[in-house]
Amino acid sequence: MPSLFEPRACPVCTGTEKKRLFRQTFATLSAGSLMDGFDLVVCDHCGAAYGDDIPNQATFDRYYAEMSKYEYASDAGVTTPSDQARFKEIANLVSPYLTPEHRLLDVGCATGGLLAEFQSRGFRRSLGTDPSPACASLAARLHGLQTKVGSIAELGTIWETFDAAFLTGVLEHVRDVDDSLRLVGDRVAENGFLYIEVPDASCYDRHFGAPYQLLSMEHINYFSPTSLEHLLARHSFAPVFNVRLIRYLSPQAIEPCVGGLFRKSDRSSNHRIVDRESKPALERYLARSAEVECRLHARIDELVRTRTSIVVWGVGTHTLRLLKTSRLREAAIVAFIDSNANYQGKMLESIPILPPSSLKDLPRVEILISSQVAEAAINQMITARLELPNRVHRLYVD
Ligand SMILES: [Zn+2]
Repeated sequence: MPSLFEPRACPVCTGTEKKRLFRQTFATLSAGSLMDGFDLVVCDHCGAAYGDDIPNQATFDRYYAEMSKYEYASDAGVTTPSDQARFKEIANLVSPYLTPEHRLLDVGCATGGLLAEFQSRGFRRSLGTDPSPACASLAARLHGLQTKVGSIAELGTIWETFDAAFLTGVLEHVRDVDDSLRLVGDRVAENGFLYIEVPDASCYDRHFGAPYQLLSMEHINYFSPTSLEHLLARHSFAPVFNVRLIRYLSPQAIEPCVGGLFRKSDRSSNHRIVDRESKPALERYLARSAEVECRLHARIDELVRTRTSIVVWGVGTHTLRLLKTSRLREAAIVAFIDSNANYQGKMLESIPILPPSSLKDLPRVEILISSQVAEAAINQMITARLELPNRVHRLYVD
């Protein structure tokens, strides 16, 4: 199939030669979908892995603005215990290099949990930026933090510099990595620090959850400790340390990450650091994904064969992929269910996406939970919170 989008150069070394490992594919919603798939490629020059055949940065910016509309509408930005543990871990790692007089910048601060953790350790001078107005105002209200609404592109309108900047869970989402790092780097004072945390693709095979789940629509850069160091060297940041971290997407799902602290220096390095870990790790991850997906297909085939009327709970990566790769679209699907208000009211395969509350009108329809990350939580909601009588199919417990 001819490519729809401009080819993407390697975000780590800017090289243009690459090999495709895999084509990820998704069904699209009636409105607001980002793309119907992408190529997972590995750079021939430096070994970094990234998503290719993807839309331009402006499309990503619009998508995130739209998707953040209802963010935190239900939980009012309360920091979850796993987020709290993550913020403490980052503060423990980075604070030995800082003093409380230092000025901190958290880019993509969400509701301000990380800066609040530093605040509790005596750091009083900080700024959080976030593209979501709801997040920025919650960060201000919940923790008394100074915040500014804006995407990374708008960092150019801030004139002050900071002794340490934080970029956690951001860089894996960005198409134009160099532009973003330049803008963030400019806000770091000479000899200041930059902490970056991203998923670590060189460990994807070691913490397996659902097939292909870590190749989600929103993650388009697959860094490793090596490629992160290489990228930052090109942006005049020298490594201080890097650590492999375990982040929980839910109690049942792990996303391996790498956290790296870097120090701004006065010279960039074009010295190539070749990543030899990511490609074999991703190949193992893909092989395991194919094997597990086969088992899911057998379960779905059975639902199709018995013509069971079902609702499919979850319209994330898991479902969007299965609709393209399995016989799920041939099943007797009455509706899709999702608790995320961003999806409700849209259609998938011409079938409506409804809120969980609508299930009370569908007592005889069986429920297929299509998520590994949230399977236990959804099951808990069905049985304990909504007390629904419907039969439930779980793909990750027998
Ligand atoms: Zn490269």
